Amino acid sequence: MFETIIFLLIIGLIVTAILINPVLIKQRRNRIKQRTFPPIWNAILENNLPIYYSLSPAERKRLQGHIQVFLAEKQFIGCQGLQVTEEMRVIIATVACLLLLNERGSYFSKLRSILVYPSAYFVNETTAMGNYVVEERRVARLGESWTNDQLVLSWEQVKQDTYNWKDGHNVVLHEFAHQLDQEDGKAEGVPILQKNSDYQIWSQVMTEAYQQLCNDLQLGVKTVLDSYGATNPAEFFAVATETFFEKPQQLQKKHPALYEQLQSYYQLDPVQWH
Ligand SMILES: [Zn+2]
Repeated sequence: MFETIIFLLIIGLIVTAILINPVLIKQRRNRIKQRTFPPIWNAILENNLPIYYSLSPAERKRLQGHIQVFLAEKQFIGCQGLQVTEEMRVIIATVACLLLLNERGSYFSKLRSILVYPSAYFVNETTAMGNYVVEERRVARLGESWTNDQLVLSWEQVKQDTYNWKDGHNVVLHEFAHQLDQEDGKAEGVPILQKNSDYQIWSQVMTEAYQQLCNDLQLGVKTVLDSYGATNPAEFFAVATETFFEKPQQLQKKHPALYEQLQSYYQLDPVQWH
């Protein structure tokens, strides 16, 4: 009996060490990336994601590796009776991994599970109205990124956004951009940047572009960035990310400094894909 307990303890320690050791994690991920990309996943991407064709062969190969790691590490949970299919998992993983394409950041380090609802879902939202009065409303949501370790998506919205790649809206890009922003524990539109010296210019460019969006909306000027970006700096970063991937030419033309910051952060140039 005593020997069994010792044996289980040792196994437990080894498993824990493997799971938390960065070197071992990297080795495990590299092994996963070496696996053959299932032909059925390739077919899913070719049939559903036109942007997949636009990537260079080297980018496609790198993306395939990320998708494999993502699917090996993240848990998908179907909500309201939804059966999460292989197609759903592969499409969500692919769009999310576009944000990681050039080895920037870790694999959404805080995120463990993705909750998928069949369509828009409802949550109770409370708003403080002052004088200890709180208003509670039922509001429809299409997606959410929580700082705890979960992200929520409406499959209907994911599908719609996947087919309309060039309209500047994509719930998967949006919510996973929030995950990147939240990696340092704060949702404020500032993800973890490579160098300390990068923060100052990031803050300057983002603040200017955010202010410009707020001003343009007030003046009724047509904007390339969706008005939802004016909600706060965290939403601005998520909206700017959607625009960067889906309307890169327009973003680069209207906001060259913002485009340059996102290009350097994601280490990508989506103008080349369109
Ligand atoms: Zn958001």
